[in-house]
Amino acid sequence: MFLKDQERARLIIEKFLTSGKIPSGLLIYGSSGVGKTSLAVDFAGSLLCLGDSTWQCGSCNSCRAFLPLGTAILEDETASYRFEEEVSGKRRFLYLRGEHPDFIFVPPDGNTIKIDQIRALKEFAYRKPALSERKAVIIDRADLMTVEAGNALLKVLEEPPEDTILILTAESKEAILPTIRSRTMEILLGPLTREAFGEITGRSDLYEISGGSVTRATLVSSNADIIEMAQKFMEADPLISYRIATSSDRWDTDQKNLFLDLIEEKIIGSFREGSMEYDRFELIQRRLGEIREGLPRGIKLSLGLMALYDLMEV
Ligand SMILES: [Zn+2]
Repeated sequence: MFLKDQERARLIIEKFLTSGKIPSGLLIYGSSGVGKTSLAVDFAGSLLCLGDSTWQCGSCNSCRAFLPLGTAILEDETASYRFEEEVSGKRRFLYLRGEHPDFIFVPPDGNTIKIDQIRALKEFAYRKPALSERKAVIIDRADLMTVEAGNALLKVLEEPPEDTILILTAESKEAILPTIRSRTMEILLGPLTREAFGEITGRSDLYEISGGSVTRATLVSSNADIIEMAQKFMEADPLISYRIATSSDRWDTDQKNLFLDLIEEKIIGSFREGSMEYDRFELIQRRLGEIREGLPRGIKLSLGLMALYDLMEV
């Protein structure tokens, strides 16, 4: 997808492609939903393309092999591309690979990118390209690498494999080892403007609530009922709030987090307006933090919300 706002970043990448002078490591960073992965995939496809155009042509042998996985990544439907292997006696997920022999995509396995994944990447990186003139590796959310994984990647960057380009994306570059950063070229993707956001999502009214993030806008726009319930939870009578709380255990993780985010935004709003005193604000914020922490451990959201409701003067 072409993001108007990201023209500066695309111009830099275009320079690499036309000049053929491509850094062996590239770090694309910026907040969630501003198009980092999309740009990384486009760049990878273009690096591998056998046609004459600057960006991927879409019709050569390389582009045809690249397209299915490239599209699946952007649509977040990658289940059939997962590559696992037996590592130290256990079956582990390593990366995504499709029909293109010269491309792999390394996303976090759970909450982190692990050292086994970087070892597998290294093994891939030092092979010769098979279809294209180069190979491309995307490490998505490189800021989630474990320390061991980061150190292993550093070794790869210290002796960059010939013909392999490593493309890293990250939400924050601070979470990446300075020694890795010094060996990569950094490109910042800033938040989208309201105009660009509206153009992509068709919903500029969701700009504030989504913080300019397309990913979040999709979540928000497909969960109108959650937004309405968050509104009612704060304003309506206790019985309705109670009903909303009891229904919350059936929501999926994204919906639960969205609900908590919306409640938090409203609390912050009330505090800023001066309609909530600091002590209560602090108490509710702390409780929200406890609920967020407890959810992955299986704590019921309904119980958390009822306790939260008691703290609010409604
Ligand atoms: Zn092509």
